[in-house]
Amino acid sequence: MDKQSLLRSLPKTDELLKRPDLAALAEERPRRVVVDAVREAIEEARERIIAGEEPHADDESIAGSAAARVERAMNASLHRVINATGVIIHTNLGRSVLAEEALHAVVEAGGGYSTLEYDVETGQRGSRQVHVEGLIRELSGAEDALVVNNNAAAVLLTLAGLSARKEAIVSRGQLVEIGGSFRIPDVMRQSGAKMVEVGATNKTHLSDYEQAITPKTGLLLKVHSSNFRVVGFAEEVPLEKLVALGRKHEVPVYEDQGSGVLVDLRAWGLPEEPTLQSSIEAGADVVSVSGDKLLGGPQAGILVGRAEAIGRLKKHPLARAVRIDKLSLAALEATLRLYLDPALAVRSIPTLRMLALPPDEVAGRAQTIAERIEGTSGGAYRVCTCEDASRAGGGALPLADIPTTVVAVSPLAMSANDLEERLRLGEPTIVTRISEDRVVIDPRTLLPGEEEEVVGALSEIAATSGFPEALAP
Ligand SMILES: *Cc1c(COP(=O)(O)O)cnc(C)c1O
Repeated sequence: MDKQSLLRSLPKTDELLKRPDLAALAEERPRRVVVDAVREAIEEARERIIAGEEPHADDESIAGSAAARVERAMNASLHRVINATGVIIHTNLGRSVLAEEALHAVVEAGGGYSTLEYDVETGQRGSRQVHVEGLIRELSGAEDALVVNNNAAAVLLTLAGLSARKEAIVSRGQLVEIGGSFRIPDVMRQSGAKMVEVGATNKTHLSDYEQAITPKTGLLLKVHSSNFRVVGFAEEVPLEKLVALGRKHEVPVYEDQGSGVLVDLRAWGLPEEPTLQSSIEAGADVVSVSGDKLLGGPQAGILVGRAEAIGRLKKHPLARAVRIDKLSLAALEATLRLYLDPALAVRSIPTLRMLALPPDEVAGRAQTIAERIEGTSGGAYRVCTCEDASRAGGGALPLADIPTTVVAVSPLAMSANDLEERLRLGEPTIVTRISEDRVVIDPRTLLPGEEEEVVGALSEIAATSGFPEALAP
């Protein structure tokens, strides 16, 4: 047939929709999605005929293509991925994985009505803050606490609440960009606080702050440089000293701590990070952290500090605009409750569990995965294990290389880039790293059961790329 006859033989959308298979699909799936898919499938066939690509554009194959389009269109865009990168708090992949207990709390709070702002004792309106306030006070030692949407909101609220139309003094070395274009100087501008930079990029002394204090000073700000370190000839003013200076001049001191550590990480050979407790002990008026970084909970901003300062933030109009939603609040309460027993927290909170995973255990898992890949992929890959480094990620512990053992996979019939892409575009999505022309799988960030899925995906790719011995699952 020539192109013109082929084009004329293409079905009309309405005709194709009468086919029993597509009619049934349109009952089951949203009709508009099926209609669009059929239209697109016909259009694709038309384009391929014009390009001279497809001699047979029969109804059967167009209907098949339409059905596949419907399935793709109905798949969630926000879906699970397997994180084989070894970056634990991977911001692009959703930061912290929630503990079971936190997940249950989300299901319960979301699947029914709840005590969100209801006081069961009195039958009156309550505050959503009460569910976590006491827990945070107990865990941090602070007088008062407030939780908001995220830590960026906590920074904005604190600057607006304590320093609007006043000056906030901050070290030049701490005017950081956190990533995702969140820059401390930009947030300051939005808050209405006037930024006064002191010191040099590598060194700031207490006297630099002291000389900048005027009657217009509203706040002394310390920002934890979470995603970089100035090493070598560098100096920051410790929080205690800043607090003493603030007291002397009656200016509140705020530390944006970023990561939110509640347990001592040194127990697992990690570098010391300031904890919420240590900053409260040092006397900060306000400290803010993220809920989904090293704390291992949901997205949230946690503010702790002195009753006077936190009280002012609670009353600020912005507090309503940046309030935490009920699902995050439920997950946060459950996560914080686990911290009442630090050993329980490390066992139950995936972020902590991954950080604390002993090197020999990771090595054992890597060995098992490597053997399983070799045994199921029909010789499609050269596989070995080697020592490498995992990362905390999320702008936390920037210099800490966490010793790990990875599985390195070199495909024989395709490039490492192709294999990385096939794993990424497969079902489920598997995100890996490429290093020295090999696809690298770090078992540290794999969740229970995901090892099998990674092995299965690799054997399936092997089976469909010329290695018939591979055991397709
Ligand atoms: C991550 C981070 C923020 C932003 O916190 P989000 O919870 O992502 O909004 C602010 N300040 C510091 C120091 C951080 O590390």
